[in-house]
Amino acid sequence: MDIFETIGSLAKRRGFIYPGSDIYGGLAGTWDYGPLGVELKRNLKNEYWRSMVQLRDDVVGLDAAIIMNPKVWEASGHLESFSDPLVECKKCHHRFRADQVGQKCPDCGGEFTEPKTFNLMVETYLGVIEGEKLKTYLRGEITQGVHVNFKNVLDSTRVKLPFGVAQIGKAFRNEITPGGLTFRSREFEQMENQFYVKPELESSMQWMEYWKNERMKWYLSLGLRKENLHFKDHEQLAHYARAACDIEYNANGEWKEMEGIHHRGDWDVRRHQEYSKQDMTYFDEETKERYLPWIIETSGGVDRATLFFLMDAYREEETKPGETRVVLKLHPKLAPFKAAVFPLLQNKPELVALAQSIYKDLKQDWMIAWDARGNIGKRYRAQDEAGTPFCFTVDFDSLEKKDVTVRDRDTMEQTRVKITDLRDFLKKKLA
Ligand code: ATP
Repeated sequence: MDIFETIGSLAKRRGFIYPGSDIYGGLAGTWDYGPLGVELKRNLKNEYWRSMVQLRDDVVGLDAAIIMNPKVWEASGHLESFSDPLVECKKCHHRFRADQVGQKCPDCGGEFTEPKTFNLMVETYLGVIEGEKLKTYLRGEITQGVHVNFKNVLDSTRVKLPFGVAQIGKAFRNEITPGGLTFRSREFEQMENQFYVKPELESSMQWMEYWKNERMKWYLSLGLRKENLHFKDHEQLAHYARAACDIEYNANGEWKEMEGIHHRGDWDVRRHQEYSKQDMTYFDEETKERYLPWIIETSGGVDRATLFFLMDAYREEETKPGETRVVLKLHPKLAPFKAAVFPLLQNKPELVALAQSIYKDLKQDWMIAWDARGNIGKRYRAQDEAGTPFCFTVDFDSLEKKDVTVRDRDTMEQTRVKITDLRDFLKKKLA
């Protein structure tokens, strides 16, 4: 089975990701995150925020509106250029990006129409009176929400160049060929840092290198396998860009973009200065000069990264001859549940009571799963598939010795840990 199908079926069965509006037959390019998926995705975003904003002195956060004044999109160039040439099959009427197909339709072998241009911006209307509604757009990228606030951030904080503004949020695109699960969606989340630097070639290129390496390190630190990641320099640059590179993930032999690192020159601030007629320059107190800063952007997809973390963590392992287990070896920081607590037997009130007290205590600080059904082997398998790194089982010895069996997801090894040490155990494992 193709890796996208394998992950898609696990994701639906276990509640990571469901097709959007599923009971109505879905809506192409939309997805819903289930009880496990919402935790995984939130953990990823929290790790992003922690590394990008909390731990840094030179990056601040922002959360801009999804709907913006339509002039923003004129200034950014999206209304002009945010469009892909498409071809349509004359027989089955399926549409494809002209740059992605050959002479004949891959679905039915039919002939194509001439390429046509479609705008990717999702339109929406504000106001209640028909005929007087303002036509605007759901943002096609979260980037512009940062650049239009460049002056606000300068005036309300004590930032000095070089500094960044990070943001996580939804973006919308009328993608022509959504697919590959969440890989190409019409509604998706981005995590970005727009890093403003002095307009100097050499030092700005050094920042570009710096951010490429920082972003790669971040993915590696959360457990993506090194052999499945690489940098891919863009052969064709956007007209305003000075350099551009993607971090790509190897999805079973196919390299796919996960995050872009782009040197945008002063494009965004210059255009907003021109269109808004507001001064967007920065006053450099050291050199007493005014200038437009240059921008190094890191722009990652939250949904793409979540999908690739799932793919990378997915293993089918032979536990005994003829017996395999499915396990998600997610980094403990990303795992939806940090631990599961079980009473060995459901019908022994003293085991259930002790296990419940451990469960309720740990739940104050972490997402903890509870399971008392069926045999213990099945419960381990269920937690393996959910990516839960540890299972704590309360058995008869626990009543006397005040300890539990700790079973490790990856090694399947079992050890005994004192109940009073469980908090420290988890803290250490999650550090
Ligand atoms: P692609 O070439 O795959 O369409 P892009 O180059 O247009 O992507 P950017 O505009 O640079 O992408 O957006 C930055 C990041 O946002 C991408 O690296 C990706 O992770 C994410 N992203 C972009 N479009 C989508 C989408 N349709 N669905 C999910 N994630 C997306």
